[in-house]
Order: sequence, then C-alpha cells, then structure tokens
Amino acid sequence: MNKIIAIENARIARCDADWQGQLDNYTILIQSGKILWFGESLQVPQKYIANIHQRVDMNHKIITPGFIDCHTHLVYGGHRASEYGQRLQGISYAEIAQNGGGILSTVKSTRASDVQTLFDSASLRLQHWLKSGFTTIEIKSGYGLDKKNELKMLQVIAYLDKKFPIRMSPTLLAAHTLPPEFKNRPDDYINWIIDDLIPDVVRLNLAKSVDVFCEKIGFSLSQSKKLLENARASGLQIKIHAEQLSDSKGAKMAAELGAQSADHLEYLDESAIKAMQKSQTVAVLLPVAYYFLRENHVPPIELLRQYQIPIAIASDSNPGSAPITSPLLTLNMASTFFKLTHVEVIKGVTLNAAKALKLDHLTGSIEIGKEADLAIWDINDLEELCYWIGNNPCYGRYVSGEFFKN
Ligand SMILES: [Zn+2]
Repeated sequence: MNKIIAIENARIARCDADWQGQLDNYTILIQSGKILWFGESLQVPQKYIANIHQRVDMNHKIITPGFIDCHTHLVYGGHRASEYGQRLQGISYAEIAQNGGGILSTVKSTRASDVQTLFDSASLRLQHWLKSGFTTIEIKSGYGLDKKNELKMLQVIAYLDKKFPIRMSPTLLAAHTLPPEFKNRPDDYINWIIDDLIPDVVRLNLAKSVDVFCEKIGFSLSQSKKLLENARASGLQIKIHAEQLSDSKGAKMAAELGAQSADHLEYLDESAIKAMQKSQTVAVLLPVAYYFLRENHVPPIELLRQYQIPIAIASDSNPGSAPITSPLLTLNMASTFFKLTHVEVIKGVTLNAAKALKLDHLTGSIEIGKEADLAIWDINDLEELCYWIGNNPCYGRYVSGEFFKN
C-alpha cells in the first residue's frame, strides 16, 4: 500500500452536493495525490493507520476544496489604465470599444508582445491566485485574433500550466471581438475560426473549450450559434459570454447546444433559465466586471435559485472590465452585490466552478477518490471568506496531494 498523509484536527467544508456547513475534528487521508478517506478523527479505519507516514496537525484551521476560478483572461499585453481615465471623464465602455479602443487596444499590445513577455506578466498575476487558495484556473485566449497570436496566447497558457502548481483549463476565445483584418466582415471571421483556426487548436491540443462574446459590440446570436455548433462538432466544450450588457438570447441558444456554462447573465430571462435547467448549464456570475463597469442590473438570482441552476462565481480578471489581482475580493463582491449567501459563494468557487469546467469528477469538493486539491484557511468562521475586503487568510494549498505553504 502506498504511503498515506493524514491531515488531522481540521475543520472541513466539503462543498459536495449536499453540503451546508463545516465539520469539526476531521481527518483527511491522502494517498497517491487523491483523497483516500475523510471523517471524524477518532474514526480513522484501522487498516490505514499502519501506512500513515506523515501526520499534519491543522490545529482546527478550516479546509475547503481548492478554489477554482472558472473565467479569466489572465494572459495579455499592456493594460488599459488610460481608458479607465476616459471612462472617468464620462465615456462609456461601448463607446470606447466603437472607437477602436477596448479589447482592440489590448489586441495591439498582445500582438506586439513575445511569448516570454506575456508569460512573465501573466506569471506575476497568477501568483495572487496561487497565494489565495486557488488550485484550478481557466484562462482564455482572445487578444490575438489571428492564427499566430491566438496560438501564441494558448501556448503561453500551456507554459503556465507546466511551470506552476495549478490545474489549468485553456479556452479559445478568438470570437472576442472582430480583428481589423476582418473589419465589417464578421461572418467571414467566424468562418475563418471554424475552418482554419479550430482544426489547428484541436490538432495541437491547446484548448479544452471554445467561448464567444455574444453581444451588440461582439458577435450576433446566429454567428455565435454557428461557431459553437462547429466547436462542439470538433469535440470541444462550449461556453458563452452572454446577457452582460443586453438580452441577446445567447445563454438560451448556448444551453440548447449543451454549453458547459453561460457567463455574466445580468440580463438573463426566465425562458433562458428554463433551457439552462434542462442542459444543466452552469450560470457563471462575474461581480467584478459588474462593479468596475458600474452596472446596476443584477443577474436574476432568485430565478436561478428557483430553477436550481448551479451558480459559479469567477473573477473575469482582464485588463478592460475587471483588472483584478485579488481574487478573494470576488467572493465579497458576489455576496455584497448579488446577495448570495456565503454557502452559495463558496460553492460557486468550488463544486459549481468545477462543473463549469467539466472538472467536477476530479476536483471541486472533498470527496473520496477526488484529487487532493485543498485550500487551508487561517480563520475561525467560514463567513470570513466572504467578509474580509482585501485580506488573504490562506495558509497554504494542497494540489494533487502536494503541499504548498504561503
Ligand atoms: Zn470574460
């Protein structure tokens, strides 16, 4: 029998499907990177005790599953502080985008940056996630918008995956905005992504999912549908940025195609929620973009609860609408702006975020057989994870059974 690590005297928040609160005086046994057993410390089965080669006393610290950020744009060149300055003078995000700013200005600086530069700047940002209890992160492309630069971004994500102890879920978001080369030709661009880009991405195994920005300033409903249908036919998972600034019906369409998640959803309506319920599409809420763009249209939380749609919370970290590098702040914003309970928020960055990435068979809850991805918190009450603003009480993480102290 392989050696066993025993994490003892812990308070745990399992975050599994039936989870409601925390359990005290618990032990978690880890073997070969996976959770072998967990339960009350006095109940550790005799058959395992002889093989315990390391005992770790948690001294009643709280252990949650490792946190999961299921929606980020962490790799990019430059930043957009000057646009923020324009917005402070009263120019809207949509206006800035229409004037060639917005995403396109980040496209310019990303295209001008080499792999090493992009890797270095993303590595610095990623440190904050590693230090804040995150063991899985999704990162999207979408600032290259041509073959060379979209593949370059996905390659940077693959290098980050190799270098850092965090599970990575890469997403192709070439349909983020229209590149200058395809000006006024959105249908041609979508066809190009389908015919030319996706086959290479699949061949090189550089992305797990395909995403699209379905919005007046992004891509239309029919363009988004065509892309997602073809991405799905290529064996990739599908996701959508939908209903952020208006009700474009993107979430309903994506749910009907079996999307893993629909993200943003401020303007989501009930018919879309019904479709999401049928397909078990996860609602990914992004409170930081809501805050930074000073939106005032809250996603329909009560309806999402009523239809028991799994709700995930993510940072959306990106240079335009959510330049966040303190990922735990997302939890506070989700509870403050969207009035989610601390149980909903914590489930939103664990089990439901794992579902949004189709990784819930591996991670996202403390259950026997799952990867030992754990976050250890130096706190007294679980509510503290939503309560503090700008505090990081993370003590360390286990990623597949390997410990990383903060
Ligand atoms: Zn986004």
